[in-house]
Amino acid sequence: MAEKVAQHTHCQICGKTIPVSETLCSDECKQKYRSMIKKRKMLMYIMYALIFVILGMFMIGPLFGN
Ligand SMILES: [Zn+2]
Repeated sequence: MAEKVAQHTHCQICGKTIPVSETLCSDECKQKYRSMIKKRKMLMYIMYALIFVILGMFMIGPLFGN
């Protein structure tokens, strides 16, 4: 079972146990994290663009539907 450990968190990249004050365990993970955030931002923009396109289609659709 889970034993009681001093306050800790996990590296967001590799899941290694690290002190709460840290977010990532190593420079390697920091770099990976940065590129992950970049990719995530890109994905967000794509999602927003898609949502706008879909919303736009729903708003314009009825005008041409009939
Ligand atoms: Zn790591």
